Amino acid sequence: MSGRRDRLVVIGGDAAGMSAAAQARRLRPAEDLEIVVLEQGQDVSYSACGIPYWVGDLVPDRDALIARTPGQFAAQDIEVRIGTRATEVDLEAGTVSTGGGDRLGYDNLVVATGGRPPRPPIPGLDADGVYGVHRLADGSDIRAAIAAGARRAVVLGGGYIGLEMAEVLLHRGLSVTVVLADPLPMAQLDPDMAERVCKAMGDLGIDVQNNQPVREIELDADGVARAVRTDAGSYPADLVVLGLGMGPEVELARAAGLRIGSTGAIDVDRTQRSRSHPEVFAAGDCAQTFSRITGEASHIALGTHANKQGRVAGSVIGGRAARFAGVLGTAVTRIADLEVGRTGLSSADAAKSGFDVRAEVIEGTTKAGYFPGAEQMTVKVLSERGSGLLVGAQILGGPGSAKRIDVLATAIWAGMTAEELAGSDLSYAPPFSPTYDPVLVAARVASRVERG
Ligand SMILES: Cc1cc2nc3c(=O)[nH]c(=O)nc-3n(C[C@H](O)[C@H](O)[C@H](O)COP(=O)(O)OP(=O)(O)OC[C@H]3O[C@@H](n4cnc5c(N)ncnc54)[C@H](O)[C@@H]3O)c2cc1C
Repeated sequence: MSGRRDRLVVIGGDAAGMSAAAQARRLRPAEDLEIVVLEQGQDVSYSACGIPYWVGDLVPDRDALIARTPGQFAAQDIEVRIGTRATEVDLEAGTVSTGGGDRLGYDNLVVATGGRPPRPPIPGLDADGVYGVHRLADGSDIRAAIAAGARRAVVLGGGYIGLEMAEVLLHRGLSVTVVLADPLPMAQLDPDMAERVCKAMGDLGIDVQNNQPVREIELDADGVARAVRTDAGSYPADLVVLGLGMGPEVELARAAGLRIGSTGAIDVDRTQRSRSHPEVFAAGDCAQTFSRITGEASHIALGTHANKQGRVAGSVIGGRAARFAGVLGTAVTRIADLEVGRTGLSSADAAKSGFDVRAEVIEGTTKAGYFPGAEQMTVKVLSERGSGLLVGAQILGGPGSAKRIDVLATAIWAGMTAEELAGSDLSYAPPFSPTYDPVLVAARVASRVERG
């Protein structure tokens, strides 16, 4: 035995990076594997997903968003260097350079640099008063702007981050305008479902301005954002919030020469290993993945995937076989009391991938109709014509609706037909569902139509 330990270097200390580090440590003791995590920010293992709710005061404490601290990782023999930016990776030499001038050799490297919000070339977008929603510091900045007296917010974009921010800013007493380049919010939904989301936003008091690409962020004499201008008008703003989605952060990987996939994210195989450099792994928002249904390359920035992919990378580095099994794009959110769930292909995705699908929409209730608190819910199921195979689903409705998407996601994951789901054994009691849960009703309608 040489006595030399292997070294794993992880770049990025959030969901994917820390999952990889923790899993590698579970499988390989410190005498065998040294683990060093480089994180440019001041926090690791934080929940970006919780930022909107912290801004909205639903979560009162910033620290509640931090799952584990560097000290807790140190107790597991995982060295976390916060405030340390990786500036260069030399794939030939197997080294990572840091902003502080260190050069660290590695046996394995995990790139977990996360996402990067798109920055379209709109004049004024980089000005003071324009806020991203990505890191905890962004949440602090937005909270500070509200505390300093911001009264009017304009949110750019209507994906789930834009929606969640619009709602919480309204909750904090600001007037909120959401400006969309598209006709409808939530592009991951079919238009008939997205229309209902748009209506719910309006009913809540959010001013939705659709079909209006932003031309400029207008600035005051001090260079601070004061309005958002589109071709249709100018919307005054004390604070402008970006909710334009999330691309992969691959600057470092690209400069190093790691292969980048067709989606613009790092190209990895199912073990999260780089297809160009097998000693390197990538996981989370910076990594390309694939659709479980179509097999096509895909990039969907979600924390659920980041954690699982990091764990797969950590397992493989730890010597245990593991594979990432693909994504359906299952996601839930809400706008006030309207819950939204989606999974699998939308009608537009299906058309793009050459699937001939039928779509059935049913109305139901979240509890037995007579039970106090029963709320309306709508289920849309997409199944392949001919085979009846389930390929997508969307749910909208009152409290208790959205998480039902997980049943549909599981059915799609398992390759079930609408008929098989319709006959499956789901639970029932009046406080939880009607005798036939709306999910079963939707599947039954889809299978009946399929059988003609
Ligand atoms: C507002 C918001 C709400 C969300 N809500 C949900 C939700 O409800 N459900 C869900 O599933 N997902 C949600 N997400 C997505 C989820 O947060 C991300 O998918 C997840 O955080 C990705 O984890 P990651 O580790 O890949 O990347 P990140 O969380 O982006 O972490 C990457 C880390 O790498 C660091 N880093 C980058 N470059 C370097 C470098 N060169 N050197 C050192 N460190 C570097 C960064 O500072 C960062 O800490 C939300 C995201 C946002 C922004």
